[in-house]
Amino acid sequence: MTNTIFRLQSHKFSTDNIQTTLVCSKCDEVFSKEFPLDLEGQTIEFKCPVCNSTGEADLPYKSAEEREELEEDFDEVEEEDGGEEFEEDY
Ligand SMILES: [Zn+2]
Repeated sequence: MTNTIFRLQSHKFSTDNIQTTLVCSKCDEVFSKEFPLDLEGQTIEFKCPVCNSTGEADLPYKSAEEREELEEDFDEVEEEDGGEEFEEDY
């Protein structure tokens, strides 16, 4: 059995989903698809929107750069308000 593979051509993380551009190994068509952020780094199965054959795609992890940005934001919050009030929020 030959599995169809959706190769990841490009991707972008938004605040609430992963926007990907994929290439179908069966029909060679390029298409765009969005996935929930929860699926980051996972292999998922879905049907090609062009030829309708079932295949798998490996979703990317958020890049180190994007993670660093989040950490920097967090540091700023700590500097601004390092007192007891901040701890209570947790
Ligand atoms: Zn296809």
